[in-house]
Amino acid sequence: MAKLTSEAVKEFALSHGADLCGVANIERFKDAPADRNPMNIFPEARSVVVLGRRILRGGWRGIEEGTYWPSYTHFDYSGLLNTFFLPLPLYETGCFIEDHGWEAVTTYAGCPELQDPQERPRRPGGVPPEVTLSTRIAAMAAGLGEIGWSKAFLSKKFGPRQRLWLLITDAELEPDPLVEPGSLCDKCMKCVEGCPGAIPHIREGKYVEIKIEDKTYRWGDVDMGKCTLMYHGGDPRMSPFIPKSFPGYRFDVLEQDFTEETAYKFCWPMSQGAWRRTYEHPSGHMIDGHYYLVKWGGGGSYGIGGSRGCMRSCFNHLEKKGAIEQTFHGGEFIKRPRWLLDERGEMTEE
Ligand code: SF4
Repeated sequence: MAKLTSEAVKEFALSHGADLCGVANIERFKDAPADRNPMNIFPEARSVVVLGRRILRGGWRGIEEGTYWPSYTHFDYSGLLNTFFLPLPLYETGCFIEDHGWEAVTTYAGCPELQDPQERPRRPGGVPPEVTLSTRIAAMAAGLGEIGWSKAFLSKKFGPRQRLWLLITDAELEPDPLVEPGSLCDKCMKCVEGCPGAIPHIREGKYVEIKIEDKTYRWGDVDMGKCTLMYHGGDPRMSPFIPKSFPGYRFDVLEQDFTEETAYKFCWPMSQGAWRRTYEHPSGHMIDGHYYLVKWGGGGSYGIGGSRGCMRSCFNHLEKKGAIEQTFHGGEFIKRPRWLLDERGEMTEE
């Protein structure tokens, strides 16, 4: 059997649908918390391989213009990108590794639903059966880029425009060099400006810091409660679908102090729940637009806020600055004054 090299794995992944592929050695996870450590999934692990696939810039076009939401959820978020376009090359790369005689554990990107503070280890001295890896941190360890101040992952090729999945293997592969901290995120704070006030922890300068080998990476400690409210359709300034289904609804996201989990608990039933069909509300859905986005997105999650600051403002800035390898003929992404909705659901421009 031919020796498996890092180069061969990357070449395979990139020729089977991945846009990015990087390799970390397992030693780079030595300081990871036990419930986030790949070695607690596969104790013999020697390497972590991270694959990325771009989010199309055009996936956000309709949201940026305030006219069309389905593309982003269906193709670029929980629909096809997260359930098909990226898991397929990951799985095929896993098959390629196993064809060379090494085990490959393909992992599901993000399963915080499993985490239960009451859960206990089953094996003495072990960890509870709910290890959840941080794909973005693994991608930094695999040299694909760095987490920006916004907490979005930035790569040299696409800036913040990618999703990431990973596999763990006992194959010993040559690791990629780490990206220098601050070489992609220049702390311009366009992400903060572009986010309609929903990330005050970033404004207050609170941050998270981790060290991988000799490099220290730092990013803003995002207020995930407010972020989730905005992103998942709890913010009437961001969703043109709310006023139609809840005329007169008033809700100031900035006044709320929800955890991320509570924000989900608030947004999902309001968006996806059912109500009796009446003359006043004949559809039977709580919010029609949000309901259909989930349906068109294949039943997974849905994106209303469309990452206005952390993605759109960020890549607009990095592209303008010439810091991203992928370029576009049509000029900058943000072409017109940006919008928010007032309490009547009318568009106001910045
Ligand atoms: S907009 Fe992007 S590059 Fe600028 S601070 Fe935010 S994450 Fe960093």
